[in-house]
Amino acid sequence: MQDLIRKLLLELGEDPDREGLQRTPARVQKAMSFLTSGYAADIDVVLNDALFTVDYSEMVIVKDIDFYSLCEHHLLPFFGKCHVAYIPRRRVIGLSKIPRLVDVFARRLQIQERMTNQIAETIREKIDPIGVAVVCQGTHLCMSMRGVEKQNSVAVTSAMLGAFRDQARTRMEFLELIKLRGHAGVLPGMPAEAGLACVED
Ligand SMILES: [Zn+2]
Repeated sequence: MQDLIRKLLLELGEDPDREGLQRTPARVQKAMSFLTSGYAADIDVVLNDALFTVDYSEMVIVKDIDFYSLCEHHLLPFFGKCHVAYIPRRRVIGLSKIPRLVDVFARRLQIQERMTNQIAETIREKIDPIGVAVVCQGTHLCMSMRGVEKQNSVAVTSAMLGAFRDQARTRMEFLELIKLRGHAGVLPGMPAEAGLACVED
């Protein structure tokens, strides 16, 4: 990877041997390895011993989870907040593991829509809840830095499964709790109008 970064610096018209850039290939390699470490993460290890059987069937919400990811079209960051809710059937996930789960999927080359779905589907797969809801709000530097469209726009994506998909009341309760009710009309299913994947040019 360091050779490639050195070549990239040359392609950009830089001098990779000047003082400030000498250690850049090594730093970039370290940073990129960390930012894509989600590929190597094993979900079962991440959730290790944190799945519990309980007699609880009210909504569990973890909101305002910070995420940082890389857009797969431009390799530029997109970042923001992720809100996760589920209604347990018999099993719950230790609360501290939910942000870890978000990290696993954020630390890859992503598009926000897929990341949102992967978080929801993984929770469904691991604890078979009555419903799962995931909403992510992200700022995409590939759009704002390049001056594409609205520079301060925030992309909102959602995945609603089970009761959150089937029952409007449950969905509204969740949206109310994360204060996104104003978006409720657009959220479920997230039509193309959202136009969230960055512009691919
Ligand atoms: Zn992009």
